[in-house]
Amino acid sequence: MNQYDVAVIGSGPGGYVAAIRCAQLGMKTAIIEKYDTLGGTCLNVGCIPSKALLDSSHHYEDAIKHFAEHGIVIPGEVKVDLERMIARKQAVVEQTTKGIEFLMDKNKVDVLQGVGSLTDATHINIDHKGKTQAIEAKNIILATGSKPSTLPFIKLDKERVITSTEALKLKEIPKHLIIIGGGVIGLELGQVYKRLGAEVTVVEYMDRILPTMDAGLSKELTKVLKKQKMVLNVSHKVKSVERKGKEVTVKADDKKGQEIVLKGDYCLVCVGRKPYTEGLGLEAAGVKLDDRGRVGVNDELQTNVPNIYAIGDVVRGAMLAHKAEEEGVLVAELLAGQKPHIDYNLIPGVVYTWPEVASVGKTEEQLKEQGVEYKVGQFPMRALGRSRASMDLDGFVKILADSSTDEVLGFHMIGARAADLIAEGVTAMEFRASAEDIARMSHAHPTYSEAIKEAALAATEDRPLHI
Ligand SMILES: Cc1cc2nc3c(=O)[nH]c(=O)nc-3n(C[C@H](O)[C@H](O)[C@H](O)COP(=O)(O)OP(=O)(O)OC[C@H]3O[C@@H](n4cnc5c(N)ncnc54)[C@H](O)[C@@H]3O)c2cc1C
Repeated sequence: MNQYDVAVIGSGPGGYVAAIRCAQLGMKTAIIEKYDTLGGTCLNVGCIPSKALLDSSHHYEDAIKHFAEHGIVIPGEVKVDLERMIARKQAVVEQTTKGIEFLMDKNKVDVLQGVGSLTDATHINIDHKGKTQAIEAKNIILATGSKPSTLPFIKLDKERVITSTEALKLKEIPKHLIIIGGGVIGLELGQVYKRLGAEVTVVEYMDRILPTMDAGLSKELTKVLKKQKMVLNVSHKVKSVERKGKEVTVKADDKKGQEIVLKGDYCLVCVGRKPYTEGLGLEAAGVKLDDRGRVGVNDELQTNVPNIYAIGDVVRGAMLAHKAEEEGVLVAELLAGQKPHIDYNLIPGVVYTWPEVASVGKTEEQLKEQGVEYKVGQFPMRALGRSRASMDLDGFVKILADSSTDEVLGFHMIGARAADLIAEGVTAMEFRASAEDIARMSHAHPTYSEAIKEAALAATEDRPLHI
């Protein structure tokens, strides 16, 4: 029987990063993955394919809506070849997952294909196509991720009533796509199909889209999406979804109990994801779940069985690839006797719609709830030369700083390239910068990042320069 210092179950961004870091630190490491390709949800049916389709659909929208105003004339009609668009996305996925195989090889991590199932606290059976192999590991990291969840009364047929996984490989552009859930995944995929010509209607239970982000961001994105003719029904409780042939009917009640009936050809259910522990043999090893069905862990991501750890979507916290990665590194370093730390307040959240939305730290709602005295500096993207040059005028940067110390407490942006620009907020907050620190830093002109300097100036002394 092969013996390892560490066995990681699941090869998503949590698992594969944990495996690399364990190997870098000199541990004999194995990674177990049930699918043919490595990379988990993120690389196969999550972050990467959704961004590939967002990019393709963005190019198409630019071609049909914006090229002309830039003086670019396309003779004839611009058309979408969906099959080719999906094939390009798949090629991107394949290149990326192959990259993980290369990294496993480079770091001498043994890749074992099959469903990993604990038989006790140090042994794992790996089942692949009817064959079973057993391995022994001193330490085990559970990184089995999550699966789309649904509502109890919805029957996902995966043809017309679908999850994000199917939405990434549709064979036709929906005529009317009804999306249940106005969170990140629903809005990103909604925008893909809206750009490609679908009518898109979102039904959200809470009173705003992106309900966990700063309300200012929700408000601005709502404005932009409505301008793009996406229909957003917030404060609506879906009560039934029925498919008959090619038609899907969704019924929902608004907050006054008034029923709306929506008819479309596809219904995308994006009501969240649930931790995935099926077939993992948790009972055999004595690993306990928490009250919400996630693998229970302490602050060091250790389960109730001391040599078994769990990371990523299968444990508490934001379901984000970079959060899973940080946790993978943390556990590897703990096992090597180091003293790593994660500041969960500084894990950024990003929505890759256009304009992009990005956030780190506390929202205004959280600061109010915690009774923290804060000041706000906000600067609109449209006041920037860079934004006028590219015609990306929507959005703003908002910096929240402590009223007495000026320390940055929250950093919220919506606008072109916010997904990349949020790194400045993370850096600033990691080093506990004041708004004045940011305001006094030179920001290249003309860039979208100038809005950050201006928002910091507004937060510090209410003296933005360009408005
Ligand atoms: C459409 C979509 C878009 C997304 N976009 C983003 C984004 O832009 N940015 C972002 O940060 N996050 C995004 N996410 C979320 C992100 O994909 C997850 O947070 C991330 O993949 C979690 O990583 P993980 O390692 O915990 O688990 P996963 O990536 O889910 O990987 C778990 C792996 O474990 C394997 N596995 C499970 N059980 C077993 C077993 N018993 N034996 C062997 N293998 C097993 C699974 O097959 C899977 O490969 C998106 C998700 C979706 C669905």
